[in-house]
Amino acid sequence: MEKYLSQLNEAQYAPTVQVNGPMIVIAGAGSGKTRVLTYRIAYLMHKGVDSFNILALTFTNKAAREMKERIGQIVGESEAKNLWMGTFHSVFARILRVEGHHLGFPSNFTIYDTQDSQKLLGSIIKEMGLDKDIYKTKQCYSRISSYKNNLITVKAYFKNPELMEADAMARRPKMGEIYQEYVDRCFKAGAMDFDDLLLRTNELLTRFPQVLAKYQDKFRYILVDEYQDTNHSQYLIVRALADKFQNICVVGDDAQSIYAFRGANISNILNFQKDYDDVKEYRLEQNYRSTKNIVNAANSVIEKNKTKLEKIVWTANDEGGKIKVHRSLTDGDEGRFVASTIWDTKMNEQLKNSEFAILYRTNSQSRAMEDALRKRDIPYRIYGGLSFYQRKEIKDVLSYLRLIINPKDEEALKRVINYPARGIGQTTVDRLTVAANGYKRSIFEVIQNIDKVDIGINSGAKNKLRDFGLLIESFQVMNETANAFELAEHVVKVTGLVKEINKDGTPEGVAKLENVEELLNGIKDFVEGQEEVVDSRGSLPEFLEDVALATDLDNDKGDDDRVALMTIHLSKGLEFNHLFIVGLEEDLFPSAMSMNTRSELEEERRLFYVALTRAEKQAYLTYALSRYRWGKLVDSEPSRFIEEIDDQYLEYITPKEEMRINPMLSADIFGDVEPNKIRFKKAVTPQFKKKTERSVPEKYQAATPKNLKKVSAAKQDASTADGLFDTNLVVGNIVTHLRFGKGQVLSLEGKGTDTKAEIKFDVGGTKKLLLRFAKLNVI
Ligand code: ATP
Ligand code: MG
Repeated sequence: MEKYLSQLNEAQYAPTVQVNGPMIVIAGAGSGKTRVLTYRIAYLMHKGVDSFNILALTFTNKAAREMKERIGQIVGESEAKNLWMGTFHSVFARILRVEGHHLGFPSNFTIYDTQDSQKLLGSIIKEMGLDKDIYKTKQCYSRISSYKNNLITVKAYFKNPELMEADAMARRPKMGEIYQEYVDRCFKAGAMDFDDLLLRTNELLTRFPQVLAKYQDKFRYILVDEYQDTNHSQYLIVRALADKFQNICVVGDDAQSIYAFRGANISNILNFQKDYDDVKEYRLEQNYRSTKNIVNAANSVIEKNKTKLEKIVWTANDEGGKIKVHRSLTDGDEGRFVASTIWDTKMNEQLKNSEFAILYRTNSQSRAMEDALRKRDIPYRIYGGLSFYQRKEIKDVLSYLRLIINPKDEEALKRVINYPARGIGQTTVDRLTVAANGYKRSIFEVIQNIDKVDIGINSGAKNKLRDFGLLIESFQVMNETANAFELAEHVVKVTGLVKEINKDGTPEGVAKLENVEELLNGIKDFVEGQEEVVDSRGSLPEFLEDVALATDLDNDKGDDDRVALMTIHLSKGLEFNHLFIVGLEEDLFPSAMSMNTRSELEEERRLFYVALTRAEKQAYLTYALSRYRWGKLVDSEPSRFIEEIDDQYLEYITPKEEMRINPMLSADIFGDVEPNKIRFKKAVTPQFKKKTERSVPEKYQAATPKNLKKVSAAKQDASTADGLFDTNLVVGNIVTHLRFGKGQVLSLEGKGTDTKAEIKFDVGGTKKLLLRFAKLNVI
């Protein structure tokens, strides 16, 4: 243990070895908070605390896994296995399996993911005859989610005139009824949604003191990472559990609180001292992650926030390269810049793809990046899209498995009752739903009793339903003896799913089939892995639980070498050697929807702080002067966050005075020359675009290639007159280029100012350059 403790600095050592009592570590990014938490758990165990008595809550399950691994290296793997570690959702789902019966939930309850919840809401809205354009499922879902995270039950809702009025004002006066029906239907289906996992845990701990006492005794030591982003519901759970022993250690950084929009409450960290007696507060100041330039730049931005705890962050690391700022013309150009820079850096410095990350504000920005990376054959991975388990073909298989475990699961049933097609039409399903609601039974129970009830369907339909019921029941019988893998394999064959997916033999079909195979492999792995797990918890139900709570970050085995693409929200706690923060434009980042109040803007700034502090060695900030948004080319200007960074830490790849200049309006674009690589002298550029000028210039709005030619033709002479190029090149010349480095001229075409050269560069391949713009030196 001594060896490991010596890997901590003094400030980190103190909280690591404080065994008892409440404590908080507040510190800036990269200062070792997560490291303290990890080493502290190892230390507790070293000091004789039973691993079964420790609970650690992390932001992702992946973080928990990594932490466990590290602790395993310090104290031994078998001991580390007993630790309770994971996200709030996964830990409390596990507890609800055991204790949910107090609340009337079966231990095999299903976890509805967002898709299931929204589908259910969609049916409810339809059944209630409400206008689906006013009652949008996504909005209703997020409303309900926010009630739940604030512990507003249906009962509490109807006692709260303000809430009801707010919904009525938003033209959704039936929100309460929808909420009520949604809760009832989830309950009847034996299902909990994500927010229920916290809400029901709170209910459990409040209504059943003996259950609370049991878990207070079990979790004598509680540790929470990223405490700044806990919501009210999570906060109450932690407070209740820690109340008896008060051995609670939370770490966080108020400057990195970025989930207010999902109910995270920054005051949880600010008020921690008030919640417990004799709280010890620790500060860490030394950053180990990033270069001086990055740390200082991040500090200079976050300083602009008014609401914050004063903190010092410094580093003994190298000065490092300055943060590079780059202007592109369009989002497509931005993608090309990022891809080519990754390529060049990778080659020059012999780096792996996985040392690069691209962060963006919104998921939709990934497309332009993907296109560019694909063109350069750079492998990448997008995090935060649909998780593997949410793909259609996978969800279909999983729905069968869910239904076997919990036949009341309405969403699973609706998904597979007629897939693959077995002649059970929508009308039949609608009638079943009505009957089930009427009898207060599940749809599956109605199917099982289809001969005894009259739901207005003919005998043909009845036969089909009976067959379907028998099919599921036969799987249930098999489930009693077979393991999860055998069962899943049987299900995909017998139901005809495999055949259905592969029916047309298209490449998409084949890819889907491969996914199903991958799922089966995953189940097999899971089944085999169980033999090693000390407190193995059953089989198929556990697998389904893991799956329901998996994000694709969790599935990342970290073993393939790819550039990582993700939203900034998802990047919390992670670190990357070379980092690109793209789309740094006003209205995009800061987001147009978050600029109405100071607190919203401050949250955006914190988000930027989180982004920048992910970088270890080199950061790039890029923006485009126009980008496609909602299908339209929209004019944009650089984000205020770039300007907020102290200039001394920045290097403008595009000269600062030209940050807002659109070269598209001042010159033509030729061959392979990327417009953003063209440097213009001031004389040929149009006047500076004023900051206040927000409208899209008319010329530019209609910037089809044909129009562009027209715009540029007028400007061409001006730039020619500048005479940027007057070298006499011949094929075979060895040249150097400012950005691409050394290369050899392969061919020349065109005449005079239009001469283009095809040059094979040592790094980066062959490019065709317009000599007028390319600044070449002949060696
Ligand atoms: P964030 O706020 O981004 O979550 P953090 O405060 O949790 O950051 P860590 O992730 O724990 O910081 O540490 C940042 C990096 O610095 C990690 O790579 C970690 O291994 C390293 N590190 C932390 N403390 C030390 C130390 N004392 N000596 C060497 N490296 C350290
Ligand atoms: Mg951390």
